[in-house]
Amino acid sequence: MDDCLFCTIIAGEIPADVVHRTGTTLAFRDIAPNAPVHVLVVPLAHHVDAAALATADPALAGQVLAAATEVAEAEGLATDGYRIIFNSGRHGGQEVPHVHAHVVGGAPLGPMIAG
Ligand code: AMP
Repeated sequence: MDDCLFCTIIAGEIPADVVHRTGTTLAFRDIAPNAPVHVLVVPLAHHVDAAALATADPALAGQVLAAATEVAEAEGLATDGYRIIFNSGRHGGQEVPHVHAHVVGGAPLGPMIAG
């Protein structure tokens, strides 16, 4: 999609700190990290959110999840643990409407939802 930020990154038109790629996914560091490790994993194909992706292409949804766990392992998060987060919609705080998994870790992350 022409006006999608993450499609623009996937196309190489905006620089990103890429840490992992597969034939169907790309992972790059979040520009405003919320933890010592904060990586975004996106499918190359444009889907708005996790629900849209899971409905349209469940195999690709699995590939995004697999890539997220590979990123966590490569970033050294597997032993102490980490979070994989998919924000969806307005209440979920989704800012970029191209589905992405946040892989966050590297320190204790605190409560799952801020009070
Ligand atoms: P969300 O709120 O779940 O849609 O998350 C969007 C994330 O994209 C935020 O954590 C932003 O910091 C991140 N972000 C926005 N622009 C960029 C960029 N150009 N490169 C990397 N991450 C970005």
